[in-house]
Amino acid sequence: MNIILLGPPGAGKGTQARKLVDERNMIQLSTGDMLRDARSSGTEMGQKVAAIMDAGELVTDEIVIGLIEEKLEGDHGGGFIFDGFPRTLAQADALGEILEKHGTSLAYTIAMEVNDDALVERITARSTCGNCGEVYNDITKPQPADGKCSNCGASDFKRRADDNEESLRTRLMEYYKKTSPLLGYYHAKGNLQWVPGLGEIDEVAAGISAVLDS
Ligand code: ADP
Ligand code: ZN
Repeated sequence: MNIILLGPPGAGKGTQARKLVDERNMIQLSTGDMLRDARSSGTEMGQKVAAIMDAGELVTDEIVIGLIEEKLEGDHGGGFIFDGFPRTLAQADALGEILEKHGTSLAYTIAMEVNDDALVERITARSTCGNCGEVYNDITKPQPADGKCSNCGASDFKRRADDNEESLRTRLMEYYKKTSPLLGYYHAKGNLQWVPGLGEIDEVAAGISAVLDS
């Protein structure tokens, strides 16, 4: 079963994807994570996208479609979770074609319902474990007092270069202009399911599970 998690930056797509990986053996495909990996390993592509990402703009469709295509060649596990992809109508069309080529399809597009104030608050308070990717929040889930990740014990925490107010404003506008039309697109295809995204992590997860088990 392949699904898309759709929602603005800070909606909690990554957090929910990680739970689905643990609980359902699904495979998370986050183009944001793939691009950040390309940057930190210093590939030519990574260098090319760095400034675009830090500004909060979208990288080209060609690059992210290429990244996704590579991953679909591998193990399909309990299904793919597309997290942060597709972000444009061209990417959505491409995804449909790639899945078809692999003899599979999309079960659901889960639209996470949140409001903009919550997004700003979440994102400016966000940090992650540099080792395992566990997500922390200065207000709701602070880094442990002993300085060690509660999931893996590592002690280097990171904040994203684009998690500042100015980039966030651009990311939100990119979302409304280029990504939110996908809500209509998947509604028309019959895949769209809304889930409230503002509750506790486990409440949101229960909403998503209800859709996947329906
Ligand atoms: P968020 O959802 O919090 O904004 P992501 O980690 O998904 O963050 O993405 C970070 C950045 O990576 C985006 O702002 C954009 O520059 C780039 N990016 C990620 N996925 C895509 C995509 N599918 N298309 C274009 N750019 C992307
Ligand atoms: Zn960790």
